[in-house]
Amino acid sequence: MAKANYIRVIIDRAIYRELDYLVPEALSERVGVGSRVRVPFREKSALATVVAVLDHSEAKGLRPVEAVVGDAPTLSEELLDLARWISAYYCCPIEAVMRSLLPQVIRRAEVGWKKQLFVQPAGKIDIEEVEKLRRRAPRQAELLEALSRLETPIRAADLLRQTSLDNQTLRALVKRGLAELREEAVVRDPHADEQFVATSNLVLNPEQLFALKEIIQALDLPESARPILLHGVTGSGKTEIYLQAIRAALERGRSAIVLVPEISLTPQTVERFKGRFAEAQDAVAVLHSHLSEGERHDEWHKIHSGRARIAIGPRSAVFAPLKNLGLIVVDEEHENTYKQEEAPRYHARDVAVVRAKIEKCVVILGSATPSLESYHNATTGKYRLATLTQRIDEKQMPLMRIVDLRQERRKEKAAAILSEKLRAAIADRLEKSEQTILFLNRRGFSTSLLCSNCGEARDCPNCSVALTFHRHMARLSCHLCGHTAAVPKKCPACGKDALIYAGFGTEKVESTVSHIFPKATVRRMDADSMTRKEAYRETLRSFRTGKIDILVGTQMIAKGLHFPNVTLVGIINADLSLHLPDFRAGERTFQLLTQVAGRAGRGETPGEVFVQTYTPFSPSIQFARHHDFAGYFQQELEFRERCDFPPFKHAILITVRSAHEGRAKLSAETLVRRLKESLGSEFILGDATPAPLEKLQGQFRFHILIRGEAIMRLSRLVREALDKLPFPEDVTVTVDVDPYQLL
Ligand code: ADP
Ligand code: ZN
Repeated sequence: MAKANYIRVIIDRAIYRELDYLVPEALSERVGVGSRVRVPFREKSALATVVAVLDHSEAKGLRPVEAVVGDAPTLSEELLDLARWISAYYCCPIEAVMRSLLPQVIRRAEVGWKKQLFVQPAGKIDIEEVEKLRRRAPRQAELLEALSRLETPIRAADLLRQTSLDNQTLRALVKRGLAELREEAVVRDPHADEQFVATSNLVLNPEQLFALKEIIQALDLPESARPILLHGVTGSGKTEIYLQAIRAALERGRSAIVLVPEISLTPQTVERFKGRFAEAQDAVAVLHSHLSEGERHDEWHKIHSGRARIAIGPRSAVFAPLKNLGLIVVDEEHENTYKQEEAPRYHARDVAVVRAKIEKCVVILGSATPSLESYHNATTGKYRLATLTQRIDEKQMPLMRIVDLRQERRKEKAAAILSEKLRAAIADRLEKSEQTILFLNRRGFSTSLLCSNCGEARDCPNCSVALTFHRHMARLSCHLCGHTAAVPKKCPACGKDALIYAGFGTEKVESTVSHIFPKATVRRMDADSMTRKEAYRETLRSFRTGKIDILVGTQMIAKGLHFPNVTLVGIINADLSLHLPDFRAGERTFQLLTQVAGRAGRGETPGEVFVQTYTPFSPSIQFARHHDFAGYFQQELEFRERCDFPPFKHAILITVRSAHEGRAKLSAETLVRRLKESLGSEFILGDATPAPLEKLQGQFRFHILIRGEAIMRLSRLVREALDKLPFPEDVTVTVDVDPYQLL
């Protein structure tokens, strides 16, 4: 490592600039770009990341670095470049980017606990004792109080993080005899108890072979490689191609990242990757959001030390610190969960493409329903296109039948949940011992509680949406902020006993289906029924082994699952996603229908799909019905071009919010005036308008939408305009570049 005299760092706490420090002789051998250091900052010390090593500095009165944290630089130059790009593109301070790049547990000084400390109270906690302590040592009292609320011992690190208290306070409490510490080794490999059956490469069919050849060519000439869009219908063998491409990368001494949407990081998926690369125990590191801090720490070091050559995980895995990266796979590249909805608001697919460019490696974007952006890039030649048109073994695409709910309504009043045709189809499958999936993208029992006398609905007090009735907890709940309320007996507005439930969610579908088919085993899979960590895995296992006849669920069951015995899929209401005020509504509906339908007929028997809808002739539904991606793409593209939406223009969505409606509005309008001056006619600047979701978590929200082609320039201009404007204390402004949430 080069000898360092000065370093430039980014401090973890958000200050939005880089600072220089002196490096004492004794430390100079140990710092490099990416090292973590402790430096004096204002009156205290702070943790920071080194972004440059300098031989001189213009700054005056430089202070020396206090300590180097850890041994090796944690971030490579390439990852730092990536961080800088994200900061500029997504209009976001680099400190916030660093927080996504380095997991919390790695950023802290106390890394590397092999054994972990657990805390519990020493005996029963007496309230009076807490109060007495509060006068002498308020922080210890706070900690003791937090402990008293727990039923089981807690990891010391978790307790301190949750209470924002420090280790010293905890030690003092222990010394006082009020708390006990216990060291415990934690089993961290979340898959340690599983056996993986080793598998080897399958013999590829001609289409697969062609696609793999393209990828291998790119691996051998990474300098000039373009991103490869792998467009293959559901069940066409994309995953097999990923596996063989990774193998080829490993054989060339390089490593690989596989990104999957969180929702499809199922045991099934992990098994396929671990099984194929079973030759080395640690070859595959899995990074998912349910890892404990210790597990996350271990997986990260497994990758950083080079023991793991493959990292698989959801969007943040795009930052996995692999050396000699050769390949990044983005599976289901069209998925919205790749977009992070908090700062930095990055899209992992786009970050993957940029990282691949920086690291000179190959990137594969795979999907049965590519995003309009990616497919457009493939048709214009920016990406290469590889297509798989056939399912493996000539399995048929499922037959899609549209059920017009308007006609069903006329026939039968209560038909809205299960049409006659869908009911008959389910009965037929039950008879043949085949399985059914029923899909509805809405949780709960009834979606609103209305008064039939005065028409008043029970809305969330904090958000502008109706509360959903959940039968299992017998309460109303807000799906946006989590507020819950008791079910009133009478209408609180008019006092009449005239409340009725309207609309329905998965809970009601489950109960209706169980009622109609009392002999069938029906299970529900959604965020409400899957709160236990193991529930998801257990349900999938029972479904696979045929213990469940009908599985009802939300998007949790729409993706990536492979169950050969499923021959029927019912889409209870295809219109739900179609009528949202969002330019991607049509695209999402097409993708969702195609993906859900792809769950049917993956075994020997062909599949059948029933799509229930009130708008049977909408293009998204018709194109999905005929498995016509090209037709759908063409008409959607024309619409986007006509309206100046992506992929023709980039968009930036600014949200201005405040608990005070007037102040939010005024700030938004002022910002628009400012932007008008600085943007010029090159960009399309919208007015400040109330957001479709006007109120969320007690905050009033206003939107400003800007569109244009030169996104880097636009990002910079927006940043500068914001920096110059002093907003009132209680007004928050967020900037979302390439937004996916327009509500
Ligand atoms: P996709 O990722 O496109 O949905 P998969 O890779 O999951 O498709 O393939 C679907 C099924 O076909 C899997 O069970 C897989 O093992 C099998 N498969 C894939 N490629 C081949 C092949 N070349 N020969 C035989 N079976 C294959
Ligand atoms: Zn709410």
